[in-house]
Amino acid sequence: MSATNPLLQPHDLPSFSLIRAEHVLPAVEQILADNRAAIAGILQSQAQQPTWAGLVLAMDELNDRLGAAWSPVSHLNAVCNSAELREAYEACLPALSAYSTELGQNRELFQAYQALASSPEAAGFDQAQKTILEHALRDFRLSGIDLPLEQQQRYAQVQSTLSELGSRFSNQLLDATQAWSKHVTDETALAGLPDSAKAQMAAAAQAKGLDGWLITLEFPSYYAVMTYASDRSLREELYAAYCTRASDQGPNAGQFDNGPVMAQILDLRQELAQLLGYPNYAELSLATKMADSSEQVLSFLRDLAQRSKPFAAQDLEQLKAYAAEQGCSDLASWDVGYYGEKLREQRYSVSQEALRAYFPIDKVLSGLFSIVQRLYGIEITELKGFDGWHADVRLFEIRENGQHVGRFFFDLYARANKRGGAWMDGARDHRRTAAGQLQSPVANLVCNFTPAEPGKPALLTHDEVTTLFHEFGHGLHHLLTRIEHAGVSGINGVAWDAVELPSQFMENWCWEPEGLALISGHYQTGAPLPQDLLDKMLAAKNFQSGMMMVRQLEFSLFDFELHATHGDGRSVLQVLEGVRDEVTVMRPPAYNRFPNSFAHIFAGGYAAGYYSYKWAEVLSADAFSRFEEDGVLNADTGRAFREAILARGGSLAPMALFVDFRGREPSIDALLRHCGLSEAAAA
Ligand SMILES: [Zn+2]
Repeated sequence: MSATNPLLQPHDLPSFSLIRAEHVLPAVEQILADNRAAIAGILQSQAQQPTWAGLVLAMDELNDRLGAAWSPVSHLNAVCNSAELREAYEACLPALSAYSTELGQNRELFQAYQALASSPEAAGFDQAQKTILEHALRDFRLSGIDLPLEQQQRYAQVQSTLSELGSRFSNQLLDATQAWSKHVTDETALAGLPDSAKAQMAAAAQAKGLDGWLITLEFPSYYAVMTYASDRSLREELYAAYCTRASDQGPNAGQFDNGPVMAQILDLRQELAQLLGYPNYAELSLATKMADSSEQVLSFLRDLAQRSKPFAAQDLEQLKAYAAEQGCSDLASWDVGYYGEKLREQRYSVSQEALRAYFPIDKVLSGLFSIVQRLYGIEITELKGFDGWHADVRLFEIRENGQHVGRFFFDLYARANKRGGAWMDGARDHRRTAAGQLQSPVANLVCNFTPAEPGKPALLTHDEVTTLFHEFGHGLHHLLTRIEHAGVSGINGVAWDAVELPSQFMENWCWEPEGLALISGHYQTGAPLPQDLLDKMLAAKNFQSGMMMVRQLEFSLFDFELHATHGDGRSVLQVLEGVRDEVTVMRPPAYNRFPNSFAHIFAGGYAAGYYSYKWAEVLSADAFSRFEEDGVLNADTGRAFREAILARGGSLAPMALFVDFRGREPSIDALLRHCGLSEAAAA
């Protein structure tokens, strides 16, 4: 088996097309068995006096081999999901969770790290090495190294169940998303929709052997209906299907209900926190974050809420007044996107759809690349002839002064059996291997953009362009690191509430005339974005920003409170209602089951950490304000950002890195100004 198992072959890039479900479990079992034997060997050889090379580098090698096999599997499970692959993936979760807990609770290994940290060799360690040891000792404690055996076993059980529950949450959400569709044969039902959206819906119908149009819950389809469909009942129908996915409500009520999964996840997280001596999961979550305490997080969010709620209320009043003028005097949740877009068009004469023609994918990519080339002194070129997982996938190489730096995959378009959303995952770390070789990093960048229509390039909305820049920022953080120690290179070891700094930072160039000039050009004529359209777009930037801000704050407060107050007798929905009392200006209908699709906190890494977006946005906005002072394409400032932030990964506390770049601690002013939420902007 192993001779033909592509997951067990040493590889530069994974052979995606050769990976089959039947390879997955045997490869993982083989590697875990090999790693266990290797760890026993490491402990024996390091028993006297552990060394960096003998202990940390040797452990890095084992991690890396496991990652080289598991990364393509979990990636394919997310982007080319199938029943067989899903089953194979899930079959591995208990074994992987057990292995990880076993490492975290391995007393001999813990003692070896302790001995290394207090060895004479440690006196000569650089900052990255010191941080790695600090994190390692902290993580042993957070894995229950100090607990009595019985509680250690319970910890292992809880972790294993949590990893399965997270996977079940994603699966049920994906299944619920795929389970609903609406077949339309009369084009008049689609009145108001742009041709691009109709073409997608026709293609979706054709793919299922149907005539007419197929509306699905994949994001581009959902978004198009909610923004443009003039048929109010169609919007209401789609809204109800979308916001009740994987719940006890809506058209597929009870079929993929994530409710019980969420309840179990929350109970187990609470138990985990208490096992480790924390009063609740929010406190446990903060043990590895930049924020100091729950009070600090909550007062940060509430302060922002207090500042932005009046703006949000004003946004809503204006929207209601406009909708009433148009004959809709009872504005509902399924009207907000529709009238919002109409009002934006009326007020600024600019529509997302009209802008699309100016953002063909290749122009956007070449503009994005030239921005980062100017800022960071790198070159990016496309590579051909690689083994991918879908015809849309593209591979690029970053070079600096002619030297190879790293590579990244783009998988940009929405399709069936692909998880929604956008993300970057670090498929391979930048590190110096035990043999002394430099291993270059690889990143997977995944989005769910509207695919191309036949005969046209893919045309992005400005929102999609912004998402691309965001994920690319994560990619650069992973790829442009100069740290050679795996534990803190790229995004490794970066506090979760600082990890959105480089990503949100990149979004700024989508709003700068100099950036826009590089990323836009009409797909037919190549003509640049006309000045008047550009002016209107910039004027529209903060349209409804108050409402957008309180929405993000609602998610953040809900997530944090849910984990901070678990066990106070309130249900998930009651916690959400409480938060809405505090911050929301537009109440959704009672059947809305938003939490059931909140994968960030139930299936991703954002539990008691969704606040990170806003937290890091303070940092990113303030970091960008130095570019506003120096010039947004200023190469010196770009190099300074790269060396202070992007290059240094998790080697130093995020506050220290920030101060190094900005010369002072962060201030919230830039964020408020960028969002049009400062006092001056209210005038
Ligand atoms: Zn992000």
